[in-house]
Amino acid sequence: MLKVCKFGGTSMANADSLKKVKDIITADKSRKYIVVSAPGKRNKQDTKVTDTLYKCFDEVVSTGSCKESFKFIRERFIGIVEDLGLDFDVKSVLDKTESDIAEKKSKDFTASRGEYLSAIVTAEFLGAKFIDAEDIIRFDSQGKLNEEYTDDKVKTKLNGVEFAVIPGFYGKDSFGNIKTFSRGGSDITGSIIARGVKADLYENWTDVSGFLVCDPRIIPDSKAIDKLTYRELRELSYMGAQVLHSEAIFPVMKGKIPINIKNTFSPEDKGTMIVPTELSGDEPENVITGVAGKKGFTVIYIEKNLMNAEVGFIRKVLSVIEHHGLGVEHLPSGIDTLSVVLESEQLKNGLLNDIVNEIRESVNPDYIHVIENISLIATVGHGMARRRGTAAKIFTALAEEGINIKMIDQGSSELNIIIGVLNSDYEKCIKAIYNAFIK
Ligand code: ADP
Ligand code: ASP
Ligand code: MG
Repeated sequence: MLKVCKFGGTSMANADSLKKVKDIITADKSRKYIVVSAPGKRNKQDTKVTDTLYKCFDEVVSTGSCKESFKFIRERFIGIVEDLGLDFDVKSVLDKTESDIAEKKSKDFTASRGEYLSAIVTAEFLGAKFIDAEDIIRFDSQGKLNEEYTDDKVKTKLNGVEFAVIPGFYGKDSFGNIKTFSRGGSDITGSIIARGVKADLYENWTDVSGFLVCDPRIIPDSKAIDKLTYRELRELSYMGAQVLHSEAIFPVMKGKIPINIKNTFSPEDKGTMIVPTELSGDEPENVITGVAGKKGFTVIYIEKNLMNAEVGFIRKVLSVIEHHGLGVEHLPSGIDTLSVVLESEQLKNGLLNDIVNEIRESVNPDYIHVIENISLIATVGHGMARRRGTAAKIFTALAEEGINIKMIDQGSSELNIIIGVLNSDYEKCIKAIYNAFIK
């Protein structure tokens, strides 16, 4: 049995959490390769090390040094090393890091130092070997992961290594510069290492007891999901359930390595098992598996009689959007209607107006209307395809709460139903769906 374990920011936050991490690792000899995040928040008011590093970068750009912002980084790591009672000269490592940040003036390099320092300290504490992600993870000239090179490096660098700590979140680009994944990317690093060493299990240790049916900030006592398939996970994480980075699934997919989401602060809880597919005859306990959502969308609703008979109609609408370099989030359509769902963030400075006018000119619709401040909420689950009336149950639950549905999109896989409601109804909508199916 071989396990790769990734520990998130809260697990790395202070000496107490690091002691819990050590107990977890020493309890099971198969936990050999440990991927770590930068220290996260110790309490609600605290700041994540990575966020402060982005400030360090801004300070370097405006003043040439990061003396002020780096003080916080210094205090955090010195505090951890002292509280753990380690005989390790972290001050020299911090001095060198501070001057490297000032010299390199690179945003990604600066941000990556949280994971780098965290892994060095954790390796010291665990008595494990530190293996730098920059020697393993490689991006190509387009900024995509170079899978072949990376896989090969994981194998050669870890071959014969019994116990190692690897920093998450970054690798090197094709020019040899440090490059990070997007925020939360240590989950991806863990997945890459798990695939490279052909692990039996990828354990992802965080601060909640698994993937919960709903965001616990909306439903504090939300139940945890026992078992989730890769596809369900992808839908939920893409739609905003941030427990696991939405791209973390891809590296383990090929090797069909299961992921176990576990809680560092309650390690006996079994957490959530994420598996390649459902086993046949495996009837899900609930009709729905999870609910996730995101705020901040705009819907452009277009009506034109006989739209479907008009060759190239959808292409013309989409080419307007493409022309502005934007991506489309969803595209629900009816016989004579089409809705284009876009992230509001990318429509600032009059762009929305331009797009609507260009669509008008291009396809001459009977009616075009913009709905702003929309949230998208996805109800996900393999069980929905087998049981009738799921959509009706959602709509009834929302109607009873007086929530107005602005848009509906049922994926052709019958794995999800996405609805659009006003941002102001977002929390209420998630609660209504949870109560209708889970409680
Ligand atoms: P880590 O630092 O360990 O990577 P994250 O903060 O990235 O942890 O992810 C864990 C957090 O995700 C939880 O503390 C919780 O607030 C949030 N979260 C959002 N949606 C869900 C969900 N459906 N299930 C569990 N946690 C969720
Ligand atoms: N430290 C990085 C972040 O805060 C990466 C991670 O924690 O996964 O986004
Ligand atoms: Mg995370």
